[in-house]
Amino acid sequence: MTSRIQYDHERELELVLERCHAASRDAAITAADALPKGFTGTLGHFPVYFPEEIAHAAGLLPVNVLGGGNRLEMKHADARMGSFVCSICRSTTELGLNGTLASMAGFVTHPICDAAKHLAGIWARNFPDQVSQILYLPQNVNTNGTVRYIAAEYQRLRGVLEARVGRPIADDVLRNSIRAYNANRALLRELYRIRRDEPWRASCTESYLLLRARTRMPCEEHTALLARALDAIRRRSRLAQDKPRVVFVGGFCEQPPLEMLEAIDESVDVVDDDILVGLRFLTDDVPPTGDPIRALAESYVERSAASPVQHDARKSKEGYLMQMLHDAKADAAILTAAKFCEPGLDDQLAWSKHLDEVNVPYLVLEFEEKMTSFEQMAMQVETFAESLLFALS
Ligand code: SF4
Repeated sequence: MTSRIQYDHERELELVLERCHAASRDAAITAADALPKGFTGTLGHFPVYFPEEIAHAAGLLPVNVLGGGNRLEMKHADARMGSFVCSICRSTTELGLNGTLASMAGFVTHPICDAAKHLAGIWARNFPDQVSQILYLPQNVNTNGTVRYIAAEYQRLRGVLEARVGRPIADDVLRNSIRAYNANRALLRELYRIRRDEPWRASCTESYLLLRARTRMPCEEHTALLARALDAIRRRSRLAQDKPRVVFVGGFCEQPPLEMLEAIDESVDVVDDDILVGLRFLTDDVPPTGDPIRALAESYVERSAASPVQHDARKSKEGYLMQMLHDAKADAAILTAAKFCEPGLDDQLAWSKHLDEVNVPYLVLEFEEKMTSFEQMAMQVETFAESLLFALS
């Protein structure tokens, strides 16, 4: 009887993960007339810090556009971009030009780096039917006017979306969206808590698939899916394995290929990471009362996760990595960066220098979304894990 129940939990999780896997492989955007009830269109947004609540309240399904992965054939984008631009920008442009993203109502990016900033111009020129916007987040959040500035930017975005959908976004509706995202954030925090406390229950790959599914479905639907998955994960009777505990950083924008995460999971327990941090950048509930735009802006300033593209003197590059290592009781770090990602490579350098100084072991890896061979990387991680286990024994 016990094994039958156990089987049911595993099967339940398998079903959820299959659905998430299908969603993560499918870059296509649902046409407006096939969207779930309550949505009249989709709004694409580029990583990292996008307030999905505003699009959700406008009745536009927020779709995090994350490039095309390693199965996309590049036919058009190379003619519009230099070969030194990171893969996510190139493949996102390709998805636009080959029609995959044609049904989006608009696309919003941020000036997180030169490549992402210029993507907005390419979008506006090539897809004039879509709203094309840059959401200007502050370069310095440590001044008195920061919350006011972000609130004004969020308000501007709200106005642009209101014009697109042809109706105002009421404060009450926005507060309801904040509540829906708070419920989702709570479950995501629980997923990461389980990975920190009992990493054998959920691998980094499983966690990634569960999180990534939100890029293609309404927040409420994702919350229900996540609740099912968490229930099955908690009931899993897996045994802890003798693996080193490692923090993974560098997955904040361009996504590491799934096969890379699978290869890493083979040898280490990834007890925390910054993968898809843009989908969980607010680290606590946003107050669903008062002025909702101000509440979102305040949360960005006071309760948001750090990344190489956020500039906040209270969160030094070295400081937030050390905090992650400490909170997750990690033995070591895997420092990755996407090829040609300037902010990622800058931080990788700062991190490795600091970890040398404080004598924390680390492994440096570079990835590209179009990578297809992972054997060598798997061997590197295995060797790293063995050296850690030897040092820890
Ligand atoms: S991967 Fe790096 S370089 Fe490319 S858009 Fe993202 S932050 Fe910019």
